[in-house]
Amino acid sequence: MPPRSRPPTHPVDVLKRAGLLGTAAQIAVLDYLQHAEHGHFSAEEIHRRIAAHGERMNLSTTYRVLNQLVEAGFVASVPLGKHHSLYELNTGKPHDHLVCVVCGRVEEFSDPAINRRRNAIAKKFGLRFDGRALALQGICADCAARAHPPRARAR
Ligand SMILES: [Zn+2]
Ligand SMILES: [Zn+2]
Repeated sequence: MPPRSRPPTHPVDVLKRAGLLGTAAQIAVLDYLQHAEHGHFSAEEIHRRIAAHGERMNLSTTYRVLNQLVEAGFVASVPLGKHHSLYELNTGKPHDHLVCVVCGRVEEFSDPAINRRRNAIAKKFGLRFDGRALALQGICADCAARAHPPRARAR
């Protein structure tokens, strides 16, 4: 074995097998998502946290890299309307999201009935559904309780 060879699970090789170049920026973003506690992050947040680790990367590179990682299937995106998405490591387990528009809290759920209907509806419209997660947006129970405390309602 040549002394410089890397184990097959090295991030560069993993990215290259998926058709990516395995740039330092791609490795930094993937590495962050793989080692962060599972969660849903905005591109800005990912950029900030990577920068905090001393990695030099600008925000537009972060966006570009996230798109590349989504295309290659490493990362899943949760579209939240115009120009805003959250990103998470693609664990291969399809699920949908409930997103609070006040505090930003994200809960995951999976409902077989919704999955079935979603496929049926896409088929009916001739849409090739890309498996992208749904995001139901609203105000979570905690934020609703803060906005309308029960005592105020009793008066
Ligand atoms: Zn909330
Ligand atoms: Zn999720």
